[in-house]
Amino acid sequence: MTNELEKGMKAPAFALKDQHGNKVALKDFKGQKVALFFYPEDDTPTCTVEACNLFKTNSWLAKLAAAILHKDNCAMVIRHTIHLHQITKAAILQDERLLCHELTHVMQWRQQGVVKFLLLYSWYSLRYGYYQNPFEKEARAKENDSSIRDHFIFK
Ligand SMILES: [Zn+2]
Repeated sequence: MTNELEKGMKAPAFALKDQHGNKVALKDFKGQKVALFFYPEDDTPTCTVEACNLFKTNSWLAKLAAAILHKDNCAMVIRHTIHLHQITKAAILQDERLLCHELTHVMQWRQQGVVKFLLLYSWYSLRYGYYQNPFEKEARAKENDSSIRDHFIFK
């Protein structure tokens, strides 16, 4: 006999703790339909894409961008990752305005999709310049909107 369940098998009797620490037994739900959802524990190697890849420190891409922009430090977003040069993860987490700005860019990548975002961002930059690029204007407008943090998991 294996320990694995197969489709159509009667579930064995078991009891587990729920998210509040209360013991819950399968027999408590006799006659009802039950869906089990296992969430990996926090601080394990299993986590969401956003949590694992949100920050990349010492990024050569951000270093390159800093050189092009003649800046000492730089934060830039590529897809769902905030690339940092001469800025620590701790520092950006303390810098609410910068964090909200960059998180807005992460949302823009997400909303537009990679190809469309790159094309639009490039087109807007050529047409309007960096400062008037609508994606940059939106990011600046959201610098004081900390509700954007709710869309992300910070580790
Ligand atoms: Zn920006």
